[in-house]
Amino acid sequence: MLRILYVDMNSFFASCEQQLRPELRGKPIAVVPLLADTTSVIAASYPAKKFGVKTGTKVGEAKRMCPDLILVKGSHDEYIRFHHRVIATIDTVIPVDKIHSIDEVSCRLVPAERPPEAARALALRVKRAITSRVGECLTSSVGVAPNRFVAKVAADMQKPDGLTIIEAHELPQRLFSLNLIDLPGIGSKMLVRLNRAGINTVEDLCTRSEKELKAAWQSVVGVEWFHRLQGKQLIERGTSRRTIGHSHVLGPERRERHAARAVAVRLLTKLAQRARHLGYVADELAISVAFLMPRSVAKTESRWHAYTKVQGINDTPGLMRAMRELWDSMPDRRAPILKLGLTLSGLTPMASATPSLFENAVAETRLSKAIDAINKKLGPKLGTDAVYPASMHDAKRSAPRRIAFGNIPDLDLPDVSNE
Ligand SMILES: [Mg+2]
Repeated sequence: MLRILYVDMNSFFASCEQQLRPELRGKPIAVVPLLADTTSVIAASYPAKKFGVKTGTKVGEAKRMCPDLILVKGSHDEYIRFHHRVIATIDTVIPVDKIHSIDEVSCRLVPAERPPEAARALALRVKRAITSRVGECLTSSVGVAPNRFVAKVAADMQKPDGLTIIEAHELPQRLFSLNLIDLPGIGSKMLVRLNRAGINTVEDLCTRSEKELKAAWQSVVGVEWFHRLQGKQLIERGTSRRTIGHSHVLGPERRERHAARAVAVRLLTKLAQRARHLGYVADELAISVAFLMPRSVAKTESRWHAYTKVQGINDTPGLMRAMRELWDSMPDRRAPILKLGLTLSGLTPMASATPSLFENAVAETRLSKAIDAINKKLGPKLGTDAVYPASMHDAKRSAPRRIAFGNIPDLDLPDVSNE
C-alpha cells in the first residue's frame, strides 16, 4: 500500500539562483559560500553536474572540470524564503507531514490517495503547483512508496524533475539496481562494515535475515533496516511529540566551560524566541554536550545529555532557569566542550495550553513578548537584537546563522549575530 509521498527539490540552491537571475538559467552554475578557490561547492546546477561538479567539490577543482562554470555566492536568506514558499505551496495540495531539510519534505497519503493512479495524479499536482506558483526553475523529484525510507529512495531514482512510484509488491526487487552507498544512512564507514559481513549489493542486503542484519549493524538498527527494505511502516521514535532545537559547534575560543555557557545562554534565548514565534509552549528542555576527547574514549564518556520538565512555558527567564540547573548538573569531564545542543519537546500550541496561574510567570511571558516586539521592530535597523538578556552579552557573536541545511530558521526571527 502506498502511504508516503516524498518531495526532494532538484539542485535547490542553484535552482533558486536561476529563478532569481534568468541569465543563469540553463548554465553550469555552482553556489559557493564565498568566492574563493579554497572553498567547496554547496550546490551545482544540472549542466554543471554533467561535468562532475557536485556538492563538496573544491572550487579550484570544479573550475578545472568545467571551465565555463559560473560561481554564485549563496544567499541563504533567499533560500529560506523559497523553502517557506515551497512548503506553503505543497500544503495547498496535500498537508506537509515532515520537513526533513531545507529541500526535502514528506506527506502522508489518506486512503483515497493510495491507489497508484491517484498517487501519481497527486504527485503531478504537487510538482506543477511548485513550478507554477514558486517558480519555473523549482523542479522537484517525487517518490511515492509504502514507507518514508523507500519513498526517499524513490525520489532519488529519477533526477531532475522525476516521479517514481514503488509499490509494496515490487519490494525489495526494485531497489536491486541501486548501490549500497545510494541508500540514505549507509555511509562509507557502514559500507566497509557491510562488505566485511559479505554484503556487497543491495540484493545481498535485502536477502539477509533479520538476525544477520542485526549482527552487521551490531544493533537493533539492523532490524529496522530489515523491515524498511520490505516497505514496512516502522514505529518512528519520538513522532508523538514535536521538538525544536538549536545546536552549535564551538570555535576553539569558546570551548572552555565558562565561555561555552555563554553560548548555551544564546542558544536558549534563540530557542525560546523560536517557540514563541511558532506559538508553542514546551514541557521539556534537553541539553546535549559533546566533549572534545580522543577517539579512543567511549561515546558514553564523551557525550552528556540531561533533561528537565518545564511545565508548559516559553518565556526566556523561565527556560533560562531550567537551562542553568541543567548546566550546573553537568559532570566535570575535564575536557573542552566541542558541541552544544538544546531541544524543547512536548510542544503544545499556546492557544490550547493552560495559562499559568502564577503572577510571576505571567509577567515573564509578557516581558518576553515585549522583547520580541522590540527586536522585531528595531532588528532590521540595527542588524542585530536590540534587547537581549545580559547573560548573553559574551556570546553575542558566537553562533552566526549558517547556510541552512537541516534546521531552517524563520526569517522573522531576529538573528542575534548578523555579522
Ligand atoms: Mg535536493
